[in-house]
Amino acid sequence: MNIAAHLEIIIGTMFSGKSTELIRRVNRYEVAGKKVQLFKPMLDDRYSVDHVASHDGLKRNVTYVKDLDDLKRKYEPSIGVLGVDEPQFLESGIIDFCEEHVQRGGISVVSLLLKDFLDNYFKFKDGHGDTSEFIRRADHVTYLKALCTYKTQDDICGNEATRVQRFIDDAVAHPDSPLVMVGGKEAYAPRCREHFKFYR
Ligand SMILES: [Zn+2]
Repeated sequence: MNIAAHLEIIIGTMFSGKSTELIRRVNRYEVAGKKVQLFKPMLDDRYSVDHVASHDGLKRNVTYVKDLDDLKRKYEPSIGVLGVDEPQFLESGIIDFCEEHVQRGGISVVSLLLKDFLDNYFKFKDGHGDTSEFIRRADHVTYLKALCTYKTQDDICGNEATRVQRFIDDAVAHPDSPLVMVGGKEAYAPRCREHFKFYR
């Protein structure tokens, strides 16, 4: 396969199907003869090192990593396609790492959460930069959206959701609540511009 080296990104809100789209794309490259590795940050210790991720019936092996150094250790330079799911939970150096793979002639496919629950670009774990940098550097950008699930009087809104609302104990989350909550009593819902609410 003679496809040019490039960085392609899938950005989207939660529930937009972006992880499913990532799996679909790397599986497609694999069928075309490319060697693939797919990495995902481990947010807690629930998962073993290798895990079969399944989204809407699509399956493939995923290598879970604790941080960017862990990813670099597990990365095999001979692969054709580097897939990364949710790099917003890693350090900012993940962007350079994806580009270095491209500079060596590879394809990097990345699926990321663009914005946090306050509708700001997601900041990397080390505090340097945010997810907008991926857009600046990508060759191909796909933007996926969920549909707004806000309940109107007798229906559900259904407009395209460009934002996600976070609830803690059924109330809109306070802006000072932690960016990443693991195991907290929280919930998220896709929201359109009209139905996204700021805390007050
Ligand atoms: Zn709505």
